[in-house]
Amino acid sequence: MAINNSKLIAAGAAGLYVHIPFCLQKCPYCDFYSITDLSRVPAFLKALKKEMSLVHEVPLQFDSLYIGGGTPSVLKTHYIGDIIKTADKYFKILPACELTIEINPGTVKSEDLNNYEKIGINRINIGVQSFRDENLKFLGRIHSAQNAGDTIKRARQAGFNNLGLDLIYCIPGQTKSSWLEDLEKAVAFEPQHLSCYMLTYEQGTPMDRNRQKSCFQPMDGKRAGELFQITAEFLSTRGYQHYEISNFAISNALRSRHNQKYWSFAPYIGLGPSAHSFIPPMRCWNHSDVTQYVNDLDAGRLPVSGKEQLTGDQLMIEAVYLGLRKTEGIDLDLFERRFGTSFFDLFEEELKNFEEKGFLKVTEHCCALTLKGMLFLDSIAAAFVSRDLTSFSDR
Ligand code: SF4
Repeated sequence: MAINNSKLIAAGAAGLYVHIPFCLQKCPYCDFYSITDLSRVPAFLKALKKEMSLVHEVPLQFDSLYIGGGTPSVLKTHYIGDIIKTADKYFKILPACELTIEINPGTVKSEDLNNYEKIGINRINIGVQSFRDENLKFLGRIHSAQNAGDTIKRARQAGFNNLGLDLIYCIPGQTKSSWLEDLEKAVAFEPQHLSCYMLTYEQGTPMDRNRQKSCFQPMDGKRAGELFQITAEFLSTRGYQHYEISNFAISNALRSRHNQKYWSFAPYIGLGPSAHSFIPPMRCWNHSDVTQYVNDLDAGRLPVSGKEQLTGDQLMIEAVYLGLRKTEGIDLDLFERRFGTSFFDLFEEELKNFEEKGFLKVTEHCCALTLKGMLFLDSIAAAFVSRDLTSFSDR
C-alpha cells in the first residue's frame, strides 16, 4: 500500500521521552521497567548523555519533553537539570516546549519542587493513585493519602499551574461512593489534568500472581464498567473534557501534549532503558536492562533491542486502534489522505455492526467510540484489525 510518509511526519512536532529506570520500591501491579538499586544512577546518567549524543542527528524538532519512568523524582534535582540541559544541547527543543516530570508523593520536598521550576519544568504529573490509605496499601505504594495532598499543595506553592494527577480505580473492594470520594478529593485540588486508569493485572506481576492464587477478589467487569461510566460523567460535570479513554483535561490547551503524540501518530524519540521510538514507518525499542543499556553505550553502540518497519497495513491498523482511544475518534479525511483509501469502503461491515450496537458513532468526517464502546475498545479494535486488508494493498 502506498503510504504518504511525509504526511505522517508532518502531523506536527515530535515528542522526546526520557525513561528514568529507578524506583524506591516496586509496586506489585506495575510492569514498567525499573530497578531499585540506586547505586546504578551515575552509570545510567553517563549512558543517557551518550545516547543523546548518538541519536542527536534525528531531523525532528520537539515541542514536548517528558521525563517519566520509573520514578524520576528519586533523582536529585541537579541530575534532572543536567538531563534537560543535555537534551537541549543535542536536540532541537522548541520554545514553549511542554516539559513534564512525573513525580511520586513521598519522594519530593518543597525544595525539589522549587528547583524543578527553576530548571524549566512547566508541567508536573503526580502519581497520587488514591486518596485512601487502604487502597494505597493494596497497591503497594510508598506514600500515604496525606503525602499525596501535601505534595499537590507544595507543587502549587512552587508556582506550578499545570498539574496532572494520576488515579487508579477498580481496586478490589472499591465502591461507587468510595471512588466518587476519591474523584471529589482530586478535583478539589483543581488539577488541570486527570488520568484515571483502571487497575489491570499484567501478566508476570506479583499482583497478577496473587489474583491467580485467589488472594483477593478482583472487581467484576460489570462494576468496572459502571465505575468507568461514572468517572466520565462526574468529571464532565466538573468541567473536564474527556479526550482519551483514561484522560481528562480542563481545556484543549491543557491536554497532555506529549501523550497525544502517541495517539496521533506523531513521531517520538524515547531514551533510556525500555524506551520506544517511532518515526513512521520505523519503530524501535531499547533494552529493558540497565546493565545492558550502559554496556552498549560504553561500547559506543545504540542500546537498541529490536526494531521493525511497519507495513502500510500495520500503520493503518495502528491508526485505527490509536484513533479509537480518543473521544474525537479517527479523522476520516486524514485517514483517506494518509492511506489512499476510504475508511467507509474499507470497514463498511464493521461500521454498520458496531454502530447498530451503539458502540460507535460515525459521521462524514469522524469515527469514534461511544462511552459504551470504549469499554470494549480491545475487542472492537480487534475486529477492525482482523479485517483482511490485502485486497486494498495495491491501491
Ligand atoms: S513507582 Fe511507578 S514505575 Fe515505580 S514500580 Fe510503582 S508504579 Fe511502577
